[in-house]
Amino acid sequence: MLTLLMNTFTIIFIIAIVISFGIQHWLSWRQKAYVLQHRDQVPQAFRERVSLTAHQKAADYTVEKSKLGDLDSVAGLIFLLALTLGGGISLVFEFWSTFALSDMQSNLIAVASIYLLMTVVDIPFSLYQTFVIEEKFGFNKNTIAQFIKDQLISLGLTMAIGLPIMALILWVMDSIGSLWWLYAWLIIISFSLLMSWLFPTVIAPLFNKFTPMEDGSLKERIQSLLARCGFNSQGIFIMDGSRRSGHGNAYFTGLGNNKRIVFFDTLIKSLDEDELEAVLAHELGHFKRKHVIKMLVASSIMTLISFAILGWLITQDWFFIGLGLTTHSNAAALLVFMLVSPVFTIFMQPISAYFQRKFEFEADDFAAEHAQGSKMISGLVKLYEENASTLTPDPLYSAFHYSHPPAAIRIAHIEEKMQSV
Ligand SMILES: [Zn+2]
Repeated sequence: MLTLLMNTFTIIFIIAIVISFGIQHWLSWRQKAYVLQHRDQVPQAFRERVSLTAHQKAADYTVEKSKLGDLDSVAGLIFLLALTLGGGISLVFEFWSTFALSDMQSNLIAVASIYLLMTVVDIPFSLYQTFVIEEKFGFNKNTIAQFIKDQLISLGLTMAIGLPIMALILWVMDSIGSLWWLYAWLIIISFSLLMSWLFPTVIAPLFNKFTPMEDGSLKERIQSLLARCGFNSQGIFIMDGSRRSGHGNAYFTGLGNNKRIVFFDTLIKSLDEDELEAVLAHELGHFKRKHVIKMLVASSIMTLISFAILGWLITQDWFFIGLGLTTHSNAAALLVFMLVSPVFTIFMQPISAYFQRKFEFEADDFAAEHAQGSKMISGLVKLYEENASTLTPDPLYSAFHYSHPPAAIRIAHIEEKMQSV
């Protein structure tokens, strides 16, 4: 009976891989085909604002990134199969267990080595993305030295923060009994709240320089917008995004009283003051319409459900053996669960994208109410053009993946809103 279950679970795993991999590659193929089909003409709504050259650049950029994404996903799949059914995880855990280390030490080192391997597998793709694709389309400002430095800082941070948390969770798994997953969830949630709170002042400055915005007309307008919307913040900062890339953006970061508003220096250069005000009003809309809290609650619930499922799976032999694990350690179970769950939860992707797009519409409404809708539109068009984002994504692909509505739909929505304001 058990052997049958093990084999059945291996088969279910393989079917889930075929389905999720198939859907992703089919969508990606559709996206490339659709973008290329619409490459020769700027869509009617944008004809006066976007040049054909810019439109074609966006098409080529989208297709090249998508091709790299396909390759990356094939490599990821091969690596996943090698780690699970190929016995990779078991091999690494067994290797480290031969040393004179405590169980906890060897488990932590095993998890860290697999994480390191995953990072190494991903490096060629990041290199190609940055120094070939971004370079070719004129976005790259990064240097190899900076790239290596970034990788090392990220790795150091992950190890310095991740290993103690992992140790704590493994300890809880070993010591608390069958409700360990509830405590592990509490640890993860408190930790991620702490990290969100620390991010703007402690983590982000390790990678970029943040300069308080200088006094002047822009700052005055921003402050009056913040006052109008009743928003408290710990300051408005300019980030040296141009150190690595020509892409522009703006975001809010932090929690509670530690909130910051951050503009990329590249964005300040490309948008005028009215447009910057509208973009900021959009970001404020995310806070005022409680999107940040809603996302936080949703992801906490998802994490709780995942941990509860793992709490049950970890007591089932077929889960371990069906995924190629010969070691029965909690650390290996936790690791394989994190690696494998995206394969089974692919159906969540379009649902979460749908809600994210709903939030984007609400934030755009907020911008149209508290700033100038027409400036939101012209700012968006500039951002699309300067970031070479395609104006003609495949409808199915964008419904599945896009966290932002496609440009044409988004702009039509703002225009509609402007008529009712
Ligand atoms: Zn938004």
